[in-house]
Formats: sequence, C-alpha cells, structure tokens
Amino acid sequence: MILQSLSWRIGLSFAAFVLIGSIALVFVIDRQVARENESRFAELARTNAAFLTRAKLPPSPYLDESLEQVLGCRVDFVTTRDMPLDEHSTTPTDGTVYRREGREFVSVPVDDTTALVLSREVTASWTALRQRTTLSILATFWLLSGVSGWFIGRGMVHPLKSLAAQLPRIESREPLALDVAQRKDEIGDVARAFVATRSALQEERESRERAEKLAVLGRMTTALAHEIQNPVAAIGMHAQLWKREARDQAEASIAARIELESRRIDDLLSQWLFLARPEPPASSSIRIGALVEECIEATRAGLDHARVTVTFSAVDEGRIRGDAKRLSQVFRNLIVNAIQAMPRGGQLDIDVRTRPSDGLVLVSIADTGVGFSEAALARFSEFFFTEKEGGMGIGLSVATEIVRAHGGELRVHNLPSGGACVMIELPHEGNDEGIDASGNA
Ligand code: ADP
Repeated sequence: MILQSLSWRIGLSFAAFVLIGSIALVFVIDRQVARENESRFAELARTNAAFLTRAKLPPSPYLDESLEQVLGCRVDFVTTRDMPLDEHSTTPTDGTVYRREGREFVSVPVDDTTALVLSREVTASWTALRQRTTLSILATFWLLSGVSGWFIGRGMVHPLKSLAAQLPRIESREPLALDVAQRKDEIGDVARAFVATRSALQEERESRERAEKLAVLGRMTTALAHEIQNPVAAIGMHAQLWKREARDQAEASIAARIELESRRIDDLLSQWLFLARPEPPASSSIRIGALVEECIEATRAGLDHARVTVTFSAVDEGRIRGDAKRLSQVFRNLIVNAIQAMPRGGQLDIDVRTRPSDGLVLVSIADTGVGFSEAALARFSEFFFTEKEGGMGIGLSVATEIVRAHGGELRVHNLPSGGACVMIELPHEGNDEGIDASGNA
C-alpha cells in the first residue's frame, strides 16, 4: 500500500541511496586512512634504517628495546652472515608494508647483511569511522542529501500531487487555478496538456449540448412544417380557383398575390424539410429548358412587381434525369435571389444549352444587380450563410446540394459588367422522347 504512493517510493529509494552512499564513503575513507598509515609506517622504518646506517650502530637487544620504546612498535634485526640480504630473504626488504598473521611488517636494509624490521598489530577495519574528519565528511554528505531530497520533494512530488488533486475536476466548469502550468519543465508540459484537454472537453460538451438543443428544435420545426404544409397548399389551391372566377381585376390580383405568397411559404417549408430530412430524389427524364421556363412563369408576378425584365434562351437544351420538383426549387430560388439583388429593377438573362465538348447541360442565370460580395462568393454553399436582413441562408446551399445530388455542379461569379451569375452544370441524359418538363411520360 505504502509503495503505491509516489512520495514513499521516491523517499525509500532516496534513503537507500543515502545509506549505500554513506557506507561507500566510509569504505573509501577507511582505505585512504589505512594507506596513509602504511606509508607513514614505511617512512618510519626508512628514516630509522638510514639513521642506523649513518650511526653504524651494531644491532643489539638494548638497541631493539630502546627503539621499540621510542617508535611504539616491535623492532627486530634480521642478519644473514654469508649471503646478501636480498638473496636470502623470503620477505621484501624494500620498505614496502606486508601483512602476515594479523600483523603488518616493514623491513628496510641497514647494511648488506642486516635489515631493520618493524612490525605492529594490524589496525581494525572501520577505525576511520571514529575519526572526526570522517564524521564531518559524512555529516556534509547527509546535509547535501537532505537538501537535494527537499528540492526533489518540492520540485517533483509536490507539483505532481497538486496536479493529481486537480484531475478529478476535469469535468467541473469552475475556473482552474493551476500554478504548475507556469513551469517550463516536463511537469509544466503535463499540466498544460491537462488544461488544454479540460478546455477541449468543455468545448466539446458545450457544442454537444448546443447540438442536442438544435436537434430538439429541428424536430419541433419539422413537425410544425408538416402541419403547416397542408393548410398552405389548401390556401394556394383556393386562391388559384378564386383567381379564375374573380369578378373583377382587383379581386384577381388579390387572389394572385395570395397564391404567390402561399407558394413562397410552401417553398420555404419544402426547403426546410429537405434540410431536416433529405429524401432520395425521384428520377424521371426532364426537358430542362421547359422546366426553367415553367419556373419563370411561376415567379412572373414577383418579377413584374420588382420591374425585372427576363430574357430566356434555350439552345439545344437537352434532357437530364432527375427530380423535377427539386430542380424547379433550385431555379425558383435563383430567380428569387436575383429579384432581391435588383431592388430597383433590372435585367435577368437565363440561358439553357448543351455544351457539345462534354455533353453537359448548362443553365446560366445572370442579373444586373449588386453582385456577390467577397464573403458570399466564398461561402454561398454554407447552410445558414446569409447577408440579408431576415434571410435564412438556405436558398443557395439547398440549390447546391440538389444540383450535386443530380451529379452536377453549381458555381457563382460576378460579371465584368456588374451583377451576379450562377452557373449550373448537369449531366445530359441522352435522347429520351415524350417526357414533359414535370418529369411525366
Ligand atoms: P438568403 O437569400 O436567405 O440570404 P441564400 O443562400 O439564397 O440565402 O443566399 C446567400 C447569400 O448569397 C445572400 O445573402 C446574398 O448575400 C448572396 N446572394 C445570393 N444570390 C445573389 C445574387 N443574385 N446577387 C448577389 N448576391 C447574392
């Protein structure tokens, strides 16, 4: 249990390091002291041998005894009468210290046949421990170890502990005071990574909550759109009937207005439903020029009201395979956008043709309005991008999606003469016959 705590593990390893370090230190000092003692012993022997050589004193028990008293160790003379000392002796006589049976000896020649031998008890190991120098070196080592232990504790264990204490707060929304994040080292890196992960988690949670709210809103509005669609269709149909049977011009224009507005509401609802839950497109052969023409007629009242003149040309317009209802939604959206871009009236040129080089059907819708802004040129296909007061920002994005679903491409640019141009490319179907603009055979 204790070993699971980082501070205990570091503390115990550190204590083991201090213990082993202390033993090693004492061992090294002990060896050093022993070496110094030996060299002093050898020096003692050499000095006395030199003195005896110079004084030419003959070895005698009296000399032994006097020297033993002065030197504090045993003194002997080894004499070989008939051969040189270095050939006779089995022990070194060169002044090196050697050990034998618990004693240490040093022998130095006094003359050719006599050597002075000093011997004493070998000093016990670890005697250095009793020396003051050893104790002060050990105390310094312990002090330095204690100071570095304190620094390791403050520099590593303490910040790690405070970081670990913050970890359970990763989910909390309260502000986080994490001083460790200011550090420049690896612990600081970990703390900064923790702070970054926490804020990423919070952002992710907030956006999930926003998405959940939006999903609820989306479900509500979709249900609402479905509910509104039927009464709006009924209003539109009755307005159409009323327009046909109107008693005078005034009544007919009111009915036309009601029909137009209910169609606009229906368009909006269909676009919303397409966004909320796009259904697979219906597939039929469509004469694209006829479909565009129908859309111009459907928006005629709005065009006239805005004093927009339309020119329409269809050159070898061709057919495409697709969903007529959705494609007419595209063209109506583009015409309505063009009307809104020309509040004081203008010119709308719509052209449909097949490009012989690649067989694509091209529809271009060019107006003489204000043209696309830089932002609109870049972001026109984003859902909810709008620059209009009260705009929903789904007209062009839905149109782009519908065209893409037909294997085509919708592009926008501004004309050199001013005004905007929307280009639609759709794949040509082939030479199917007898299918009208609404896709019915
Ligand atoms: P909304 O009409 O609701 O703004 P759209 O997706 O239809 O949404 O259009 C997005 C934006 O593209 C518009 O707000 C407008 O800035 C720009 N735009 C669209 N059509 C035209 C056009 N014919 N001329 C100039 N700008 C246009």
